[in-house]
Amino acid sequence: MNNFDFKNPTKIIFGKDTIEKLENEIPKDAKVLLLYGGGSIKKNGIYDQVKTALSKRNVIEFGGIPANPEYATLLEALQIIKDENITYLLAVGGGSVIDGTKFLSAAAVYEGEIPWDILTKNIKTEHGMPFGTVLTLPATGSEMNSGAVITRAETKEKLAMGGSGLFPEFSILDPQVITSIPQRQLANGITDAFTHVLEQYMTYPIGALLQDRFAESILQTLIEVAPKVLKDPTDYKAASNFMWSCTMALNGLIQKGVPTDWAVHAIGHELTALFGIDHARTLAVIAPSHYKFNFEAKKEKLAQYGERIWNITEGSTDDKAYAAIEKTIAFFHDLGIDTKLSDYTKDYEGTAEEIAKRFTNRGWTGLGEHQNLSPDKVEKIVKMAY
Ligand code: NAP
Ligand code: FE
Repeated sequence: MNNFDFKNPTKIIFGKDTIEKLENEIPKDAKVLLLYGGGSIKKNGIYDQVKTALSKRNVIEFGGIPANPEYATLLEALQIIKDENITYLLAVGGGSVIDGTKFLSAAAVYEGEIPWDILTKNIKTEHGMPFGTVLTLPATGSEMNSGAVITRAETKEKLAMGGSGLFPEFSILDPQVITSIPQRQLANGITDAFTHVLEQYMTYPIGALLQDRFAESILQTLIEVAPKVLKDPTDYKAASNFMWSCTMALNGLIQKGVPTDWAVHAIGHELTALFGIDHARTLAVIAPSHYKFNFEAKKEKLAQYGERIWNITEGSTDDKAYAAIEKTIAFFHDLGIDTKLSDYTKDYEGTAEEIAKRFTNRGWTGLGEHQNLSPDKVEKIVKMAY
């Protein structure tokens, strides 16, 4: 097992009707900016619950943060933060609203002139503007981690940022919110969380035995609840386990002591930036070819995953590892998620070269848990995913 530090300061308030506890969490003298997305919270009643809970507070609002939070929109919110002397941010939404809020938390205290530099210069925020979240979509784990991914349509870029000062102070997780989520987004949430676990688990060498078991338990729970959540989002047992699995998949716990990969996400972000494909679907496109391309290095772990998660007991290590990749593809298909780039766009020719060029230009010459995935290898992985 590798050495590690572990600190996660986010307070989780989990369960039925917990949005009403919001008032206890935000300082009484705070001037709050309530941030939300395209308006789903106004249709499903979450907005009303939040407003009721904050009725005695000084709150102004900023709506319209799009899926894949857009830099230009966030700059408008940043102006409001400055003009109105906002002291506290409250994200009400899924990963996009929460990530957008993290960017604002960082940008509000950033002393440089161009906030986009936070992303391109990899500036780590140690003390952002304080913020909390009300999660409306289980998927990203952003509600209990310190990372964010921001999109800039103008340049077709989607880049990650973070820092120890970007954990939410609190996150309210009421599993009842999933009843209004469209099937497509539920399937995305399951796929994103599943792939988050794979990014931290499908690595070598094997050494952190307890972390492996934690990771496997999240995968098993997601597989168990996925059909139930899709069939009946009002099934509270399934909804609550789905929600907590997504949070646990990316709150830092399972990455401690293990090498982590994240190449699937790095490549997937480019597919969203170039084609607007939903984040989770880009992962389902890239993960299978990534594991096939890196088969020799990862096969021992793939075989363990095949045995423990998919009950593949027959054959050699190679057989089990290969069958495990096929099972993963079948799982995504069962969720209604396509796994080839050509399923999403007819304009895929040249994508692999473009992504390799972008990575080279950014100096991203070694992705993966051993920093040995060079742009020419990335190009081959993307081609395999056509
Ligand atoms: P999302 O982009 O936040 O939301 C997707 C859609 O679902 C939006 O149209 C949203 O509507 C709607 N929605 C959310 N909650 C709903 C509800 N309760 N009922 C009905 N509709 C609802 O989706 P996401 O998958 O959570 O976030 C994706 C983003 O997170 C991507 O940019 C991805 O790169 C990023 N990400 C971040 C991390 C991290 O650790 N920070 C990890 C993985 C991915 P509204 O617009 O009305 O809100
Ligand atoms: Fe993700």
